[in-house]
Amino acid sequence: MNILILGSGGREHAFAWKLRQSPLCEELFIAPGNPGTAQCGSNLPFAATDFDAVRAAVLQRGIGLLVIGPEEPLVKGLVDFLKEDPALQGLAIIGPAREAAQLEGSKAYAKAFMARHRIPTASYREFTIDNLDEGLAYVRQHPLPVVLKADGLAAGKGVLICQTHDEAATELEAMIRAAKFGAASARVVVEQFLDGIELSVFILTDGKDYVLLPEAKDYKRIGEGDSGLNTGGMGAISPVPFADAAFMEQVRTRIIEPTVRGFEAEGLDYKGFVFFGLIKVGGEPYVIEYNCRMGDPETEAVLPRIAGDLGAALLATAQGRLKGVQLPADPHHAATIMAVSGGYPGDYGKGFAIEGLALRPAEGSYLFHAGTADKSGHIVTAGGRVLCATTLAPTLAEAVAGSKKTLEGISFEGMYYRKDIGYEF
Ligand code: AMP
Repeated sequence: MNILILGSGGREHAFAWKLRQSPLCEELFIAPGNPGTAQCGSNLPFAATDFDAVRAAVLQRGIGLLVIGPEEPLVKGLVDFLKEDPALQGLAIIGPAREAAQLEGSKAYAKAFMARHRIPTASYREFTIDNLDEGLAYVRQHPLPVVLKADGLAAGKGVLICQTHDEAATELEAMIRAAKFGAASARVVVEQFLDGIELSVFILTDGKDYVLLPEAKDYKRIGEGDSGLNTGGMGAISPVPFADAAFMEQVRTRIIEPTVRGFEAEGLDYKGFVFFGLIKVGGEPYVIEYNCRMGDPETEAVLPRIAGDLGAALLATAQGRLKGVQLPADPHHAATIMAVSGGYPGDYGKGFAIEGLALRPAEGSYLFHAGTADKSGHIVTAGGRVLCATTLAPTLAEAVAGSKKTLEGISFEGMYYRKDIGYEF
């Protein structure tokens, strides 16, 4: 089977690395990919959102399995576009159809879905220009802090946690009236602040059955001790020490199963990953958000811990025969540490030469490319998040030490990474 992965980050390098090991994988393609994915297969030069180019590549390269990494093509309806095409009927696709992808594409859609299926989440109301005055009055009497969320995709920036009523009112007005996040904030979800500890749980589902993947915790802040600005993610660990069996049983019965039953009851075409952004409050899980794809950098920590054949599981998912499929987890601890460009998540330079890539990573360690580019045979920086190291080891401390050691062998101008990933455990 030939496989095509869409996307170009560390997540897609991890997918390419893992799927390359599947006995089912013949030729592997990644579009557009990066110099890391080029070590696992062939990169194709088109964007994940170029629907016509995806269709042409599937036909031309005899693709049997398509894995869609990022959310944008899913929310824009790539799956429907391909499934409606009579020439592509045999294609197995990992990723939900457009309607189901609204679980990520619209916070209001996700909140209403959770309300219909009694899935625990923060209480909320939604506002638009039509009831903005009511919204302003509502936030002014809301307990603090109050959480404002742009309804649509806002590149991970659309959530504001407001500490005062004035700030909440000003921001609500800016989001709705002044289009602070463009069309994404024409509708705003105002919700209760949940005080707890976050983790990410992932399943692979065919819309009826599901397989639980290893859970992860990501580190979003730029600075050590979780200080400073939010980023796309500075690292991740798996397993998560506080996700014990009793807690995961609650996650299964209160969140995962009602979600999958909800897909079935509503006739949603969901064949792919569900990423549950959860928060543990007083020992109980609540949903902060749904994502309709794997996370980055969580994927780089989770996939190395999957002991089974991911290719076979993805094919079974896409073909609706996941029942009975198992993906055993590797009991080792994984720690992923992201090396980023100086200045990130603000302005940063690009095109700096990366040294040390020829060195072998530390024992049990892998190096995944994120924002890198090949400039006439030299690998250079090409994004904020540049490279990440993941190490599997018997303990979290050894895993973190291994990833730090691997990154110590790498250098580029302005390189920065957090040395405290997993610090609370
Ligand atoms: P989201 O884009 O929904 O994941 O939100 C981004 C981040 O905002 C989350 O990872 C949380 O850290 C925080 N957040 C979102 N909603 C809430 C909430 N209701 N209570 C507390 N923190 C929240």
